[in-house]
Amino acid sequence: MTDIIQLLPDNIANQIAAGEVIQRPASAVKELLENAVDAGADSIRLIVYDAGKALVQVIDNGSGMSETDARMAFERHATSKITSIEDLFRIKTMGFRGEALASIAAVAQVELKTRQAGNDTGIFIEMENSAVTRQEPVAIPAGTSIAMKNLFFNVPARRNFLKSNAAELRHIIDEFIRVAMSFPEIFFSFTSNGQEVFHLEKGTLKQRIIQLLGNSYNTKLVSVREQSDYMNIYGFVGKPETAKKTRGDQYFFVNNRFIRSAYLNHALMNAFNEMIPRDSFPMYALFIDLDPAQLDINVHPTKQEIKFEDEKIVYAFVQSAVKHALAQFSITPTLDFELDMAIEHTDAVSKPFTEEKISSAERSPLFSTFIQKNQSHLIEGRGGLRNWKDFYEPAESNNEVNKPLHEDMRVTSLKNKPQTEHLFQLHFSFIVAQHDKGYLLIQQQNAHERILYEKFSGAVNGKPIATQRSLFPLTMEFSAADTVLLHELLPDLVHLGYSLEPFGNNTFVIQGIPADIDPGNEKKTIERMLEQYKHFSNDLKFSKREKLLRSLALQQSVKAGNLLTEREMKALVDDLFDCEMPNITPNGKPVYLEFWKEELDKLFGR
Ligand code: ADP
Ligand code: MG
Repeated sequence: MTDIIQLLPDNIANQIAAGEVIQRPASAVKELLENAVDAGADSIRLIVYDAGKALVQVIDNGSGMSETDARMAFERHATSKITSIEDLFRIKTMGFRGEALASIAAVAQVELKTRQAGNDTGIFIEMENSAVTRQEPVAIPAGTSIAMKNLFFNVPARRNFLKSNAAELRHIIDEFIRVAMSFPEIFFSFTSNGQEVFHLEKGTLKQRIIQLLGNSYNTKLVSVREQSDYMNIYGFVGKPETAKKTRGDQYFFVNNRFIRSAYLNHALMNAFNEMIPRDSFPMYALFIDLDPAQLDINVHPTKQEIKFEDEKIVYAFVQSAVKHALAQFSITPTLDFELDMAIEHTDAVSKPFTEEKISSAERSPLFSTFIQKNQSHLIEGRGGLRNWKDFYEPAESNNEVNKPLHEDMRVTSLKNKPQTEHLFQLHFSFIVAQHDKGYLLIQQQNAHERILYEKFSGAVNGKPIATQRSLFPLTMEFSAADTVLLHELLPDLVHLGYSLEPFGNNTFVIQGIPADIDPGNEKKTIERMLEQYKHFSNDLKFSKREKLLRSLALQQSVKAGNLLTEREMKALVDDLFDCEMPNITPNGKPVYLEFWKEELDKLFGR
């Protein structure tokens, strides 16, 4: 008999454990920023090079660490934040598992400099493969600087999994925004490859939101604020007119921690019900504070999910608080008066929550409208919630749209080319076009999507679309995330007829737009283009160019419900059958159905 079990060496064990905590540069950004916040800093600077692949550095002016702590900090399960299991139910800090620094030291080279205000000298520690390679005193300002270099230098397989710099930088910006938004009382700056992307002076939450998400929200935020014994909510929602086609600007924080909650998002969408178009998403940045004992913190902290002890109450509270805020700002013309009154008088809104009131709130008429009004909104407590996601998730992860082309749907040529005289439109949505042996029923939007898609593919592959130069070039300011995205798309956009020039500071000059787009709408066109792109951008199957082509085709296509003139129908049908693949949209939907005269004759007994 031979024994075959061995203990993994520490550095390997750490590397494996690190896989969960540090997946990409952005994960380190999140952990390091949170540590700086936990250390009580009021100035935090983030510096990255090469989208964090070469360097992620966070410099804070917080508590600093003693020499012993500085070494201890990199041990697995080393934390100053909890000492007992009970502490888990009182947790107020961002971190507590003591895994972040150990993980970072396992998969990157680390340089730590730290000094406590009471000490004259600081300490410098250099680490590689979870081991200290250098340690010496250093003169630095009080606080901590941690630099993570060459992420995954020792795990090449994981390094290969990293995405393009633009994609990784976007993840970093997302994490940065989430932390910076939670702490407007802290100064933050963010520098990428030597260029300052964000410089966020301390201020109010509203100022911070505008700094982060862009000036366009300046006069468009509605304050939400409700307090009760059970929980508080505060923050802002965008006025309905700021609702977008993409889910981008939506932030929930629970006890200052960014969370994803499809459930709470649903509460919010319900509050906006009818005020915004069906497929659009309102902006929100809402902060929920409640007793940590009411949260299940056993959920992994990097997963951003959360379990509430009592979800129903949180749901009802969020929903009524937002409805209340919207009603108060009287921007809710479609909200009927009775409901308005009902909201103001719900316990959830008007009175603090106490143990007894929780149950009475559940019996209140408003609460019951939440749970009865519409099956898709039915709340059934924990077990019953398995399916509710299905009701609205498709809006985002529209699988239809991403369906790959089906081999047998491809046609190379159409045998029966229809005539383009005597076309007519049905229901402002379909065009009937006959040919010798029957007729086609063409869905106009699908047809146009196919035409535009082929036109755009042609453009990026050689024959660029003509640009119509603006006589008075406009400048346009974007959020930092959109700026990164635009830079990424710029080369293809030029071929597609959009001429944009970077002008520094998240600003671009619009020199021209495609010749066939009405002038005067330049800004809207570009905004919509970006939104539609982001709508697609979760899909990893496609290259960024492919996503751009698909989203532009979708965005610019004539929609169902529009009256087409005879000339327009003729142009559409002609263009369609000049396409290489006229019968399906780029996203795999049929463009037309074909009906045969012979079959029709049969059906009529002839
Ligand atoms: P956690 O944050 O879960 O405690 P980390 O691995 O992120 O675990 O950090 C370990 C410990 O190192 C922290 O508990 C804290 O005491 C210390 N530490 C980390 N970063 C800083 C910092 N920027 N300033 C002061 N102390 C820090
Ligand atoms: Mg931490």
